[in-house]
Amino acid sequence: GAARVVVIGGGFAGGTAARFLKGHGLDVTLVEPNPTYTACPLSNSVVAGLRSLDRQTFGYDGLRRAGVTVVHQRASKVDAEARRVTLGDGVALDYDRLVLAPGIDMNFGALPGYDDKAAEIMPHAWKAGPQTTLLARQLEAMEDGGVVVMSVPANPYRCPPGPYERASLIAHYLKTRKPRSKLIVLDAKDSFSKQRLFQAAWEKLYPGLLEWVSLSSGGQVTSVDPASLTLVTDFDRVKAAVANVIPPQKAASIAALAEVADRTGWCPIDPVTFESRLRPGIHVIGDAAIAGAMPKSAFAANAQAKVCAAAVATLLRGEKPAAPKLINTCYSLVAPDYGISVAGVYAPSDGRLADVEGAGGTSPLDAPASFRAKEAVYAESWFDTITAEVFG
Ligand code: FAD
Repeated sequence: GAARVVVIGGGFAGGTAARFLKGHGLDVTLVEPNPTYTACPLSNSVVAGLRSLDRQTFGYDGLRRAGVTVVHQRASKVDAEARRVTLGDGVALDYDRLVLAPGIDMNFGALPGYDDKAAEIMPHAWKAGPQTTLLARQLEAMEDGGVVVMSVPANPYRCPPGPYERASLIAHYLKTRKPRSKLIVLDAKDSFSKQRLFQAAWEKLYPGLLEWVSLSSGGQVTSVDPASLTLVTDFDRVKAAVANVIPPQKAASIAALAEVADRTGWCPIDPVTFESRLRPGIHVIGDAAIAGAMPKSAFAANAQAKVCAAAVATLLRGEKPAAPKLINTCYSLVAPDYGISVAGVYAPSDGRLADVEGAGGTSPLDAPASFRAKEAVYAESWFDTITAEVFG
């Protein structure tokens, strides 16, 4: 029969990989514990009360219709020698090749005071679902005049522009609903994705309302105290009415169990095939992978999955995959009718995925409101298109 491929994780990376592996005529089993998937892109609009969480939720029937066997279990063990995955219910799945696409876990050890209990008080909302709803409710319940504080980690983390989109949309919420309030963004970095576009928009739309504190200005949060809703930096203790703590992250735990994560917590891969540098026969895609210059985005996860699926099919035929080119585009909303974007093209170079010089770029710094409004529409069209491709 056809060669067997097991895919762990039914998000943007794993869902796409399963569909395209099936398209290459392989026997594909997708392992995903949750019966539905809740997408992060556009979830910052849910935080700001502009969108319902229902619109973020997708089922797996589309993948079943495409011929993928979907098993709602957690993968609990990977034996790379025996080429076998063990599921939470004890069932074992043998594979010829394994695609690991488990996304991220919060690295709770990396920020003193922050753990899964603290996240119930100071939500991260960096995995869409109940955490998103919790942060939205906290903002709703806050009195006008309250101080919202966000903590943003150092690189690398899921969705580089995501914290700044969130800051923008929270600022929009405060401006329109609680105008005496303030947002302080404590950042462990001095620069960030689409920075000039964000900052120009903030100056125009949210002057005096949104304060960004860079690493050099003492923005790095070194610990948090959930009991007193306090964020601690080297120079200050900042008391919040609502605290959104986005902690450092790492590849989801199955990556370490499968021994494909290195000391950074992320998974080194070959840039042509996405095969693990640590364990042959296992490919790692999406946020869990170290994809060089590519950001951890749903767009990138989808692009990597297509390249990886083709490479796996080629390798299983005993042939050598050709070097790929990959694209990423990330839209961010600064206000409901104000979108900005960044695009890049990537190719293997010196063993890693590198930026193709001169390709890509960002939205123009000076553009009329009509241009920003169009990009806000494109953001939603992109979301509808990619979710239809993966889950439709
Ligand atoms: P995930 O989507 O997290 O999927 C991983 C899946 O693996 C999950 O379903 C999980 O249940 C499953 N899993 C984990 N462990 C196991 C296991 N042991 N066994 C079986 N299954 C397992 N990206 C964009 O491109 N554009 C945007 O506008 C954008 N906006 C964002 C806004 C926010 C607020 C955030 C937080 C992220 C945003 N992103 C955006 C980033 C995007 O959500 C991620 O890059 C993307 O989800 C990565 O896909 P993935 O498949 O690697 O991981």
